[in-house]
Amino acid sequence: MEIIRRQQLKEKPAKGTQLGFGRYFTDYMFTMKYTKEAGWHDAKIEPNEPKAFDLATSIFHYAQGIFEGMKAFLQPDGSIAVFRPEENWARMNRSATRMCIPNFPADVAEEGLEALLKLDRDWIPTEPGTALYIRPTIVATRVMLGVHASTEYLFFIILSPVGSYYAHGLEPTKLVVEDTYTRATIGGTGEAKCLGNYAASMKAGEEAEEKGFDQVLWLDANEKKYVEEVGSMNMFFVIGGEVITPALVGSILPGITRKSCIQILKDKNIPVTERRISIDEVIEAQKNGTLDEAFGTGTAAVISPVGLIRYKDVDYTIGGGKMGAITKMLYDTITGIQYGTAPDVYGWRKIVE
Ligand SMILES: *Cc1c(COP(=O)(O)O)cnc(C)c1O
Repeated sequence: MEIIRRQQLKEKPAKGTQLGFGRYFTDYMFTMKYTKEAGWHDAKIEPNEPKAFDLATSIFHYAQGIFEGMKAFLQPDGSIAVFRPEENWARMNRSATRMCIPNFPADVAEEGLEALLKLDRDWIPTEPGTALYIRPTIVATRVMLGVHASTEYLFFIILSPVGSYYAHGLEPTKLVVEDTYTRATIGGTGEAKCLGNYAASMKAGEEAEEKGFDQVLWLDANEKKYVEEVGSMNMFFVIGGEVITPALVGSILPGITRKSCIQILKDKNIPVTERRISIDEVIEAQKNGTLDEAFGTGTAAVISPVGLIRYKDVDYTIGGGKMGAITKMLYDTITGIQYGTAPDVYGWRKIVE
C-alpha cells in the first residue's frame, strides 16, 4: 500500500483534554477511488488534509453516500485491537448495495485500516473510556446533476480520538418518545447506514435537546406504536427478567453491538427475545413495576443506560434512574473484550500489531 507521508505531524490534544466526540482528527487517512472503467483502485494512505470538490459533485445534491463507525483500543501489551471489523465491512457493503454504490473489496479496506492505525497509533487515547473512533465513508464523486447513481466514488477512512459519546458520560440518558416525526419506513433506507437518514433525524433531535433530552426514541412510521431505536443506538428493555429488543423488521439499523449483546445474553442463559415491542407495553411494564432496565447499544455510546423516558408529556424514571445489573454486565463484558482486560472468548478482538 502506497503511503504518502506528511512533512510535519499535527499537534495532538493535550493529555487530560476532554475529547468529546469527533472533534479531533489524526495525521493520516486512507483513500481509494472507484470509476466504472477501473473499479476500486488507487488505495493509499495520505495526509488528512482538506480536499477540493466541484460544487456539482453528486454527493452534495443527492446524498448518495454511506458510512460506518468502529473503534480501535490500545491493549495492555501495547498492541491495537479493533472490535469485529469484518462485521462493519460486511454491513457497509450491504448499505452500498441499497444505495447503488458498487461493493468494495473488504480485504483492501481492512489492510488500509490496519496500515492507517499503525501510522496514527500515537493518537489512540489512553484515559479510561476513550478510544480511537474509525469513520469509513463512501461518497458519490461524479460531477453531474441528474438523479442517477454516480459512476465515480471516493472511499475514505478518517480517525478521531474520542471520549464518551454523551456529554454526561455514563450517567443514564434521557429519551423522549417521538410521535410526530419518523426516522425510517419499511422499504426505505433505515437498514442502511446512509447519510440522508441522519439529516432526516436532526429536526427531532434538536427539538428533543431543546426540551432537555439526549435523543429521541423512534417509533415505527406506520402506526407510531412499536419501538424502533434511538438515533445511533439500538434499544433493549428488561421486563420481568426477560431482555427484549425490537426485531430487525427492515427499518432498524442492524447494530453490531446489538448482535454482540444478544450473543452474550444467550451464552449467560439470560432470556433474550427479538420481537416487536409496543411503547404501550413498555409504559405498562413501567407502571406495574416490571420494567427493570432500559439501555441503548452502539459503537459510539457502547452500552448506555436509559434513566428516563418521556411519552405523551409524562416522564417515567426507569430503574431508579440508575444503571441496572444486566446493563452493567453487558457494559463490563463488551468493554473488557475491547480494552483487552478480559479474555476474548468470542474472537471479537482483531489485533493489529
Ligand atoms: C450505527 C447505528 C447503530 C449502532 O450500530 P453499531 O454497529 O452497534 O455501532 C444503531 N442505530 C443507528 C441508527 C446507527 O446508525
